[in-house]
Amino acid sequence: MDNGDVLSLCLAEINSRRRAAENESERRLAELIGTYPEFASIDAELKSTLGKLMSVLRDGTDIAAGIERIKKENLDAQKRKRDFLSGLGLEPSFLEPHYVCALCNDTGFHGGERCECLKKLMISAMCKRLNEASPMSLCSFDSFDLSYFEGDAAVHMRNVLDFVKKYADNFGNGSGSLLFYGNTGLGKTHLSLAVADTLIKKGFNVIYGQAQSLFSSVTDERFSRGGPSGVESSLVACDLLIIDDLGAEFVNQMSQSVLYSLINTRLLSGKSTIISTNIPLEQIDTIYHSRISSRLCFEFEPVPFVGKDVRQKRKHCL
Ligand SMILES: [Zn+2]
Repeated sequence: MDNGDVLSLCLAEINSRRRAAENESERRLAELIGTYPEFASIDAELKSTLGKLMSVLRDGTDIAAGIERIKKENLDAQKRKRDFLSGLGLEPSFLEPHYVCALCNDTGFHGGERCECLKKLMISAMCKRLNEASPMSLCSFDSFDLSYFEGDAAVHMRNVLDFVKKYADNFGNGSGSLLFYGNTGLGKTHLSLAVADTLIKKGFNVIYGQAQSLFSSVTDERFSRGGPSGVESSLVACDLLIIDDLGAEFVNQMSQSVLYSLINTRLLSGKSTIISTNIPLEQIDTIYHSRISSRLCFEFEPVPFVGKDVRQKRKHCL
């Protein structure tokens, strides 16, 4: 994953927004002049300002008086333009390019820094990249089959399905974080992917990944000589981060540091995270540092998955 690549892709997108806004504004001007040819002289007057200024500067005699005269002519032409447009019932900004981002006029930079619109586009591009290998569209809430569960487990899992579906339907700021736990094969990954699929369709930035793969990507980035590639910053900034199969990764100091940093930063900024794990809740603190286990146990809403492995059952049925 190359950050420069993502940056140039996003800048290309912003440039094309700017060109589209400017082309559209030129089209409006041409249409206006086509219908009202008298407007051409006002437009030409305004466009001649820079040329007149250059010639006064080149000439060099009485520059101050020359600039004052050009300024007056320009203000006068601007007034005639406004009056002309208002006479047609049009806003003064009618002929201006209507940029998508009013902060940077679709240049991607504002006050010498990357504009919010560029940052947002980059996060969204990184999310798409990080999700490339995930089978999101294969899992929906509708394809979650409750018939594999029996008795109390079936009742419980229906409640889990309803709860998680509601979480996805009402997702927004302050939705909170969820901890899916229970044995393998009970649908934790399926429901995680269903949440991801639902939210991506609604336009949220979601990153889904296996714990091992996400932590390796961050570790690689931290040790890369090329500097940050945007992986960790995207995992921190996306609207929802889903870490699947926590506990299956090789747990060491580095993976714990990455996990802590991700969940802590996201909790502090009020961003939601879903973590799924096969580790029983009471064993989490034997595997992870207490600062991680306390956050998982007290700041994530626990969602227990119960029943018998539906994948095993499916095999018996076939
Ligand atoms: Zn902008």
